[in-house]
Amino acid sequence: MAKATKKTTTTTAKKGAATKKTTTTTAKKGAATKKTTTTTAKKGAATKKATAVKKAVATKKAAAATTKKGTATKKTIAVKKATETKKIKAAEKKAEATKKGKQEKKKTPEQADISIEEKLKALFELQSCDSEIDKIKTLRGELPLEVQDLEDEIAGLETRINNFNDEVKSLETEVSNKKNEIKSAEILIKKYVEQQMNVRNNREFDSLSKEIEFQTLEIELCEKRIREFTAQLKDKNEVIDESKSGLEERIGDLENKKSELDEIIADTRKEEDILVKKLDDIKIKINPRLLTAYQRIRLNARNGLAVVTVQRDACGGCFNKIPPQRQLDIKSRKKIIVCEYCGRILVDDDFTSEVAV
Ligand SMILES: [Zn+2]
Repeated sequence: MAKATKKTTTTTAKKGAATKKTTTTTAKKGAATKKTTTTTAKKGAATKKATAVKKAVATKKAAAATTKKGTATKKTIAVKKATETKKIKAAEKKAEATKKGKQEKKKTPEQADISIEEKLKALFELQSCDSEIDKIKTLRGELPLEVQDLEDEIAGLETRINNFNDEVKSLETEVSNKKNEIKSAEILIKKYVEQQMNVRNNREFDSLSKEIEFQTLEIELCEKRIREFTAQLKDKNEVIDESKSGLEERIGDLENKKSELDEIIADTRKEEDILVKKLDDIKIKINPRLLTAYQRIRLNARNGLAVVTVQRDACGGCFNKIPPQRQLDIKSRKKIIVCEYCGRILVDDDFTSEVAV
C-alpha cells in the first residue's frame, strides 16, 4: 500500500513537470508570435510548426502521466478491496463458528446427526402428508364451513326468538296491569255515583262529578295503552312465528349437511388419523426453524405446496424453468435449494419413488 502511495506521488511530480513544460511551450509560443509580427510569414509558419510539435509532445507526456496515475489509483483500490474482503471473510468465519457452536448446543442429538439429504427427505415426507390431508379436506369441501354457518345462524335465531318472547311477556304484563287499573277506576266511579245520590249540596255533587270524569279519562287512557300494546304484541308474535319457521328450516338444513359431512368424515377419518400421526412423527425430525420456514411457505402458496420436485426442467410449484446447473445441485442433495421465483423448497424428483406416503 505504501508503495502504491509512493508511485502516486511520483506520478503527480511527473505530471507537475509536464505542466511546467506546457507552460514553457506557451511562453515560447508567445515569443514566436511576437517574432512573427516582425519577421516574414514563412518564418512565422515554421515557428508555428515547431510550437505545434512541442505542444503535442507535452500533451502526450501529460496523458502518459495521467494513465500512470490511473493505474496507480486502481492498484490502490484493489489492495484496499482485498484487505477489506479478507477482513469480512474472517468476521464471517468467526460468526459462523459462533453460530455453529450455539446451534450444536441447542440441537438434540437426533437433530444434530441428521444430514442435509435426510432433512430434504423429511421435508418431502412432511409435504406429502400435508398434501394428503389437504386432499381429504378438499373432499369435505365447504361442508364444515356450511355446518358452522348454519349452527351460528340457528343460535342467532334462537336468541332472537327468546328476546322477543321476553318482550311479549312484559307487554302482556303491561296489558293486565292496565286492565286492573281500569277495574279499580270502574269501582271508584261506581262508588262516586252512589255517593252522588246522597250529597248535601251542589258543591259536593260537582266535586264527585269531576272525580268521575277524571276516572273515566283514566279508563280511556288505559284502553288506548292496551290497544297500543296489543298492536305491538301482534307484530312481535308475527316476528316470532317467522323466526320459528326459519329456525325449523335451518335445523332441517343442518341435519342434512351434518349427516353428509359425518358420512365423508367416517370414510376418511381413519386415513386422516394415520396421516396426522405420521405428520407429528416427521415434525420431530425437522428442526424448528426449518419447520417454521416450511409452514410459512406453505401458508403463502396457493396450492399448499412448500416442497416441490423438478418436473420437466421446471419448478413443480410455479413452473418456471430451472437452469441445468441448479438441477444438478438439487440432485446432489447437499444443499437446501429454493426456487428463485416462488421460494418453494426444491427437492430431487427421485424422492417420489423413494418416499412412500
Ligand atoms: Zn418456483
